[in-house]
Amino acid sequence: MGEIVNVKEIVESKKVELKRRIENLKEKRIFPKLALILANDDKASRVYVGNKRKLCHELGVLEEEYTFDENVVEEELINVIKKLNKDDSVDGILVQLPLYNHLNESKILDCISPNKDVDGFHPLNLGKLMIGEKTTVSCTPKGVMTILESLNVNLSGKDAVIVGRSRIVGKPMAQLLLSKNATVTTCHSKTKDLKEYTKKADILVVAVGVPHLIKKDMVKEGAIVLDVGINRIDGKLQGDVDTQDVLEKVEYITSVPGGVGLTTVISLMENLIEIAERR
Ligand code: NAD
Repeated sequence: MGEIVNVKEIVESKKVELKRRIENLKEKRIFPKLALILANDDKASRVYVGNKRKLCHELGVLEEEYTFDENVVEEELINVIKKLNKDDSVDGILVQLPLYNHLNESKILDCISPNKDVDGFHPLNLGKLMIGEKTTVSCTPKGVMTILESLNVNLSGKDAVIVGRSRIVGKPMAQLLLSKNATVTTCHSKTKDLKEYTKKADILVVAVGVPHLIKKDMVKEGAIVLDVGINRIDGKLQGDVDTQDVLEKVEYITSVPGGVGLTTVISLMENLIEIAERR
């Protein structure tokens, strides 16, 4: 019988470490600050921004929110980002995705200074990750790596399969696993026979957005499964993996809720503090 990873415990010990680092910064009169930009009317996004702000308060980090209604024009948003780029009191700028449909996501994200890109979405930071340079890493994949480290998984030579190839999860995830010497395969919507790949995975990361896509017959005996997916079904959250179905076969699995989502927010704080420490 496999084990559901106690991600809460991992996050609590990260919080202790972060509080200590924040205290050290404050002694040097550096007060880390996060700017959050919300330009959509999506309920889930409002909850995510609320959770991020709550964690700022808990850790003693300054934050400010900029909310825009559906009449916002691209230029207005870009001007706010440019102002924040120049504001020395702001360490990190976060644009909550998705944006209103009429806004160009890439164009807006690319306006954030790579030095304040707390989400690690900027092309320069993604490029640095690609060539193995130290950089700000996208929060969700970074959080997945935190979980794997906490489980003391030696990734060298392991077969890692990622399902999903997005800019924010799948692609950076592949680079991070590769940097730890895993043999990495990325699957996506055009993969011919998904099961053929997933059932060979020692490490399986699923970031698709299809509830319970992964079933028992698709996982390897003793695999470690990280379920990134967040799907809202009848008001309840569900992952991309059918946890109860695969549990008896795997070694470890993360749950939804209570899994990767928790480490995503803590990674955001880690990124912010890393940026502030560079000041
Ligand atoms: P996305 O929508 O940008 O990309 C989805 C990916 O899945 C694509 O690369 C697509 O090729 C692939 N895909 C779609 N259908 C498929 C199928 N049937 N078989 C194989 N691959 C398929 O997704 P994203 O932004 O990476 O998010 C993926 C999921 O992760 C969503 O449910 C999202 O809500 C969730 N998410 C969770 C966190 C977290 O903190 N836990 C963070 C980001 C995203």
